[in-house]
Amino acid sequence: MSKQIASGAVVARILLSTATLLCTATALVTLTAVLDLGSCGPALGLPSAEIESLTKHLDAHKQVLTPIAKALTFSHTKAYDEDFQSACQSGHEAIDKALASGSGKSLAIVSDLDETLLDNRPFFEKIESKSEDQISWDDFESWQKTVKAKPLKPTEDLLAYARSKGVAVFFVTGRMERLRRVTIENLLKYGIAYDGLYMRANGDEQDASTMKSAYRKQIEDMGFEIVVNIGDQYSDLQGGHGLDCEKLPNKIYFIH
Ligand SMILES: [Mg+2]
Repeated sequence: MSKQIASGAVVARILLSTATLLCTATALVTLTAVLDLGSCGPALGLPSAEIESLTKHLDAHKQVLTPIAKALTFSHTKAYDEDFQSACQSGHEAIDKALASGSGKSLAIVSDLDETLLDNRPFFEKIESKSEDQISWDDFESWQKTVKAKPLKPTEDLLAYARSKGVAVFFVTGRMERLRRVTIENLLKYGIAYDGLYMRANGDEQDASTMKSAYRKQIEDMGFEIVVNIGDQYSDLQGGHGLDCEKLPNKIYFIH
């Protein structure tokens, strides 16, 4: 009897282990799919339509156009404008939804800077005959120091709207700390109001997604709920710590 119970228990354990393995495998497949999408949204219940939208963006990126001239041409098309506007509109809606929920939490929006708020196309226009892998990031930094990058209006409006509603604005950028002064100068030049600027430590070479998600966690640890995380790179959005992720179009370059 006790042997039968023991055998039954062994069978039950085997079945449980098998089920656990299957669940784990399913979870891993799902997780891999989520990571492939590069979105913080799916793990937080992003609607499938938005996952489809992210997939569409990813597919679009796989068709990266080179030389840079072609990517720049795309950035002046109606499709680019619609993609950009649509992402920012979704950001507006996510803010409204969070405010309407009346959770009483301190809300925040996290935004990337380059190609999200600051438009560096004048720099890329000067090297348009080159391809993405020929971009000199030292020259790019020299351009950033000129503080000539103008704001991209849909993002500028989204951030202004957030702040007008009492939602804090935090910038999380891959720009190195050594560019802090010129970056603040560039933001002030165009009257961009914000509450915090998180930059990559000088010499830091970790993945952008690792660096940026750690900063978002810091923001959450201060007591904020990040209602929107917006950027032009999937690495801006990977790693969680954001209720709503908005991917902006950028075919000029890709950052891991
Ligand atoms: Mg960017």
